[in-house]
Amino acid sequence: MININDLDKVYRTEEIETLALSKIKLHVKKGEFLAVMGPSGCGKSTLLNIIGLLDDIDGGSYLFNETEVSHFNERKRAELRKHNIGFVFQSFNLIDELTVYENVELPLIYTNVPKAERKKMVEAVLEKVQIMHRRNHFPQQLSGGQQQRVAVARAVVTNPKVILADEPTGNLDSTNGNEVMHMLTELNESGTTIVMVTHSEHDAKFADRIVRMLDGQIIMQQERAVKNVELQQE
Ligand code: ADP
Repeated sequence: MININDLDKVYRTEEIETLALSKIKLHVKKGEFLAVMGPSGCGKSTLLNIIGLLDDIDGGSYLFNETEVSHFNERKRAELRKHNIGFVFQSFNLIDELTVYENVELPLIYTNVPKAERKKMVEAVLEKVQIMHRRNHFPQQLSGGQQQRVAVARAVVTNPKVILADEPTGNLDSTNGNEVMHMLTELNESGTTIVMVTHSEHDAKFADRIVRMLDGQIIMQQERAVKNVELQQE
């Protein structure tokens, strides 16, 4: 699904050049749940943004569903994002002026889903994340945990193939954090590929595989032990 080879990313300002990612090789299979870990500044968010086609690359190749996308212009990237990728951020990134319902409806407006259909889809996903009773509230009227549930609903309402989550529990207490992790696990079990950046070893345990980064490089990969046992039994 995601096939990255020899990827370089350089940030240039007038004075300095930062090699944010260097010769990254990363393959993510359809249906996989991957956690990306590493110290602050090692390039995790940069990598996630590149996977999400929010940023371009300076070298190497990026195949998404076997199509080379590294040379896509902004219009083609936006098109691919709209239909394939959902984002969940640490700071929720909901639009304060829109209600819960309207926030979740927005991606469907962008993808030209008719109004009646939108209603069905939004309500179904709000039910699923158990926030239907707050549909007419504004984000600021909700707890952090509720806001992140709305953000997950917004990310999944278009039924994306991949969810990219950047420290999705970073602003949540452990109870709400666990709830979000269980939601992501459920989505993964129903076939959605997930790439999650996290600082939390606890959250990383929900993933099938952990990739550890340092100074713009992948230095280690670990498969989840339980999963390995399951694979051996098959
Ligand atoms: P992480 O998510 O692991 O904390 P980042 O991907 O945010 O790391 O950053 C990787 C490196 O790239 C850091 O050295 C950071 O300072 C640099 N960097 C990130 N974004 C920019 C930017 N827009 N301009 C310049 N340098 C950047």
